[in-house]
Amino acid sequence: MSHTYVADTERADLPVTTSERVPPVVAHPSALGLCCVEVGASSVETVLLGPGSAVQRLDGLHPPDGRPLLLAVPGLVHAGRVVAASNLGWYDVDPAEQLGLPVRAAVVCNDAEAAALGESALRPGAPDLVFVGLGTGVGGAVVTGGVAEANLFAHGGRFGDRPCGCGRVGCLETVAGGWALPAPLTAADLPPLAAALAQAIEQEPRASPRLVVLAGGITTAHPHLVPLLAAALPERTVQPTAAATTKSATAWGLRHLHATGTARPRIATA
Ligand SMILES: [Zn+2]
Repeated sequence: MSHTYVADTERADLPVTTSERVPPVVAHPSALGLCCVEVGASSVETVLLGPGSAVQRLDGLHPPDGRPLLLAVPGLVHAGRVVAASNLGWYDVDPAEQLGLPVRAAVVCNDAEAAALGESALRPGAPDLVFVGLGTGVGGAVVTGGVAEANLFAHGGRFGDRPCGCGRVGCLETVAGGWALPAPLTAADLPPLAAALAQAIEQEPRASPRLVVLAGGITTAHPHLVPLLAAALPERTVQPTAAATTKSATAWGLRHLHATGTARPRIATA
């Protein structure tokens, strides 16, 4: 089945109904659209994209019902399999099979990589950007020229001496991952969190784009993190997610990968 989305610059922050939006240019539209499933450590979200510009967000896992299935998971992905997703307890599994779905996924991608591509696809001109997703873990990725590279920030750095789930000590995730942050997170916790993120971004040579997108559930719950990070990165532009109606921009990144056939058969990220 062929899907070639020629233009992919629609904005998720526009009113989302089938009738109110101008359909993107679609050379070979799918009659049914795409079923995008984002598997998180604490929840699963299904986003049905298309036909046309329709967007339907559903809590939980919904069967694709004949649509191509596109999956994003927080873990190492290789050749359509999840090599390791420690927050899910998945090791060397077919993710669709693991979810109990009777079909194979057309695309399997690391969630940060898909979200970063989606943030670019949802912005005019599909700009290069640095993506940081704050959730149970830290998802870091960079998009340059429409290609994403993930695994940039979470596991590395010198942020104290707390052991990390990856076996190292002092990873960014030990001071910025949801599992490591104080609960509840208070206003006083946000400046040091923003400072750690800024330090991680500045110390990562691959994180060169000026545009930084700060997303993820923790950012949604604490939107003041965005101006705090902007203040800590005066040479850059920091924006929240462009996906206003879904948990993340992941579905648009998955669609980009499906349309362009650029889901690379390699180890994507942790
Ligand atoms: Zn680590």
